[in-house]
Amino acid sequence: MIDLHTHTFLSDGELSPFELVYTVKYNGYVAVAITDHVDYSNMELIIPGVVKAAKILMENYDILVLPGVELTYIPPKLIKYIVIECRNLGSKVVVVHGETVSETVPVGTNICAIRACVDILAHPGYLSEDEAILAAENNVKIEITTRRGHNVTNKKIAEMAISKKAKLVLNTDMHTSKQFLTKELIAKTLLNAGLSTDYYSVMRKNSLEIVNVHGYSL
Ligand SMILES: [Zn+2]
Ligand SMILES: [Zn+2]
Repeated sequence: MIDLHTHTFLSDGELSPFELVYTVKYNGYVAVAITDHVDYSNMELIIPGVVKAAKILMENYDILVLPGVELTYIPPKLIKYIVIECRNLGSKVVVVHGETVSETVPVGTNICAIRACVDILAHPGYLSEDEAILAAENNVKIEITTRRGHNVTNKKIAEMAISKKAKLVLNTDMHTSKQFLTKELIAKTLLNAGLSTDYYSVMRKNSLEIVNVHGYSL
């Protein structure tokens, strides 16, 4: 399993980065990104520690660990600048918390994240046609999520993204030890999103594209 959107106690998750990685490794993951909530107040505090942890975890637990961020509540016009700063600090997976039905972020977040060529636009419940078209052009992956609340728009997101040839990925957005991906959870999420179970192989391949950019092969 591959999951490129997770949280630790460095933001609002419950697990330490080491506990999270050990938990998912033990449950069959081959790759995970740690993507805690980051903004201008904490980027320098969080990213270097996650980069260091990822290196040690990879050397010891035989799992690919990618340091990342989930940019959240960033004023849309600043997204393109903070993406560059996060990448310069060592973030390999830049996720933006998209315009979702369950937590309001500024209007314009989706389009500005896509223009900034982030890796993943997370749970973008309000994804528009124009946004999906540009996501396809910029190869920004659109997230289907297992997370309660955000997941109510999965079907709408999947239809819009697929109709405009934007690539989908499946992530958990996990905050606790019980929310990792399982075969059952994948099957249930795909069914609710109107996708066939086979479609997981397409989404996994799309996640691997993000991983492979950094020279890792799985
Ligand atoms: Zn989010
Ligand atoms: Zn999240």
